[in-house]
Amino acid sequence: MTFRNYSSAMEKATVFVGNVPVGGNHPVTIQSMTNTKTDNIDQTVEQIRQLAAAGCDIVRATANTEASARAFRDIKPQINIPLVADIHFDFRLALLAMEHGADKIRINPGNMPKHGLEEIISCAKQYQVPIRIGVNSGSIEKDLLEQYGAGARAMIESLSRSIAFFEQRDFYDLVLSAKASNVGLTIEVNRMIAKQWDYPIHLGVTEAGFDQAAIIKSAIGIGSLLADGIGNTIRVSLTGDPVKEIPVAREILQSLGLKTGIDIISCPTCGRTDIDVESIARQVKQQVGHLDINLTVAIMGCIVNGPGEAREADIGIAGGKDQALLFRKGIIIGKFPQSEIVQRLVTEIKRLGDNA
Ligand code: SF4
Repeated sequence: MTFRNYSSAMEKATVFVGNVPVGGNHPVTIQSMTNTKTDNIDQTVEQIRQLAAAGCDIVRATANTEASARAFRDIKPQINIPLVADIHFDFRLALLAMEHGADKIRINPGNMPKHGLEEIISCAKQYQVPIRIGVNSGSIEKDLLEQYGAGARAMIESLSRSIAFFEQRDFYDLVLSAKASNVGLTIEVNRMIAKQWDYPIHLGVTEAGFDQAAIIKSAIGIGSLLADGIGNTIRVSLTGDPVKEIPVAREILQSLGLKTGIDIISCPTCGRTDIDVESIARQVKQQVGHLDINLTVAIMGCIVNGPGEAREADIGIAGGKDQALLFRKGIIIGKFPQSEIVQRLVTEIKRLGDNA
């Protein structure tokens, strides 16, 4: 199944973050955020390079001090993906980050004074820097909470106020985000945003936690919205090393047909299994999982569902007693002992990739 043919919900305006388009019909991009002290230039550059190598398209770093905002100038020439400044409270840091090369800034207008926002808008116009307006369920204005209570309505009203402020000053280079740690609220509020505005939408389940629980929350929250055609750029938030976020984001996009990649189908194994399906699947993933080609690879333990799945995949195996049948595009191309299967699969995958 593919979700490429989105409804008009996907037809958002496009902003350019550095040279990366976000919105319109452009591919959904993957973002992350460094957790180094931004003014530790070497550490920050190293982490950004790791993120980019893993597949991150756009990276954000905090500009929470003058030194970190100024550091943008030294970091930018050493990296090859756009760098976004994350700013809270002090609008002067936003100005400084833009003057020092930030490709986009992320602010929460609710925690900045109006005159500060005015200055941010003029500076962003001067440097042609887009702005992400982020609303977080934990930082809604007090009067809105009193009027609407905590929830999607208050978040939408908060966002609406901010957007009106920017539009009244002829600033439209916006990306919108509304994040909550609650998955249901994240889905609800982003559906409302998509109905109401044409600006690109940044998706994420904020403060999702760590490990499996965070991955599942993000996959459900972000994945449900993407499946509805909502969202132009995503960030999976995992506590700890941000580089771990990228494979999760890639898997979410690949599973919806929004990113090229190798889709490995493997059976859960059972009492019939006579080959080491798990080990084969893991080795194949490790050796070719990074390749930017669209292929389905089926690794099946026996002849019950094996031949069917393996035939329908681009490449597949159906296991037998310490051996497996290898299929390419539905045709059996040989029977191989278990010791050769990984290498045979990898060779065939690369061959098909070269001919793609
Ligand atoms: S494909 Fe065969 S080995 Fe794998 S789970 Fe199904 S029946 Fe069991």
